[in-house]
Amino acid sequence: MNLYSFTLSTGSEGFYNITSMVNDALQTSKIQEGICVIYTPHTTAAITINENADPDVVRDLTFALDKTCPDRPEFRHAEGNSAAHLKSSLVGCSETVIVDKGRLLLGTWQGIYFCEFDGPRTRKFYVKLI
Ligand code: ZN
Repeated sequence: MNLYSFTLSTGSEGFYNITSMVNDALQTSKIQEGICVIYTPHTTAAITINENADPDVVRDLTFALDKTCPDRPEFRHAEGNSAAHLKSSLVGCSETVIVDKGRLLLGTWQGIYFCEFDGPRTRKFYVKLI
């Protein structure tokens, strides 16, 4: 109950704004007070909240994560995408937002993002409202 699943076709590595999709789930649920969990069941993707006004912010985050987590010759994972796995664990696969008076309690400059670290892929994420 009050579990919503979404499919997202991602392109290259980057941050995809999913705030309106999460808002749609909240409006459908008609929940007024509670908790909203946004979760992705992938090991090379993540969910985060960050600035929604200046698109350069999420571009800079992608750039900085690349610099922080470069591909390394020492990595042993045969699929060759250990850097993407590392970024997924650093950013995390879920976020929690308070629901108040039927609205997500996000700040003016906050948006909810699906982070693709190994695209292009077809991805899933879930919204659970309690
Ligand atoms: Zn892998």
